[in-house]
Amino acid sequence: MPELPEVEITRRGVEPFVLGKTITGVAVRNPNLRQRVPRNIARLVVGQRVKRLHRRGKYLLFECDAGALIVHLGMSGSLRVIEPRSAARKHDHIDVVFGRSALRLRDPRRFGMVLWNRGDSSRHPLLARLGVEPLGEDFSAEFLYRTTRGRDVGIKQLLMNAGIVVGVGNIYANESLFRAGIHPRLRAGRLSRERCARLVTAVRETLLAAIAAGGSSLRDFVHSDGASGYFQQHYYVYDRAALPCRVCGSAIRVARLGQRSSYYCPTCQS
Ligand SMILES: [Zn+2]
Repeated sequence: MPELPEVEITRRGVEPFVLGKTITGVAVRNPNLRQRVPRNIARLVVGQRVKRLHRRGKYLLFECDAGALIVHLGMSGSLRVIEPRSAARKHDHIDVVFGRSALRLRDPRRFGMVLWNRGDSSRHPLLARLGVEPLGEDFSAEFLYRTTRGRDVGIKQLLMNAGIVVGVGNIYANESLFRAGIHPRLRAGRLSRERCARLVTAVRETLLAAIAAGGSSLRDFVHSDGASGYFQQHYYVYDRAALPCRVCGSAIRVARLGQRSSYYCPTCQS
């Protein structure tokens, strides 16, 4: 599933091809995504010039003069830059055309979204209640300390709550807690200031390392057929049950926490 790093890499990959460009057409082959693509999408967006390509959580916002084209990649979506006339394959549901190039959404599982929002996109119902950006200044040790006071929930579940901080999915929550040396089940309210600071740093480092690892796949966004922008990573604990910890050699454990698998090192994470 595309997580925040893949979405950010997608943003960086397609930005040079859309910034300052005017949308000249939209081809919808299948509008039945997680939310139905508006019937009049072409009328809404043709003629709009992209002023900024912004990411909020896992949403890509193509900010134009009159509003924003909102794109979510769902469970399996990917965007590529293509020649508008190149033949569409199965699952290539939508093209947004910019003159001589186009963005093509491929989404086999159709959990993605392509929507138009007039005016200020931060007020869109899907975006208005999102928590802070993990790579932004608002996600600070002080913020995490304040937010966790009196919370009896496990720290991992709190980290994965998009109403508090966006884009920390299961993989990155597991990896960040390992880097910070914090047990995933620790009650959030018991986190010291010092551990909050360590965890904030660990979340940022984990996401930035993933973005850096995916950077080498940037070329895939252009005129490529396979292309997803997803990439293989080297995890410390995620999906490594019973394998030796890369730091201390203890066997990695797995536990079910709030419906999700939590991987941790019993020695490094107390
Ligand atoms: Zn260990």
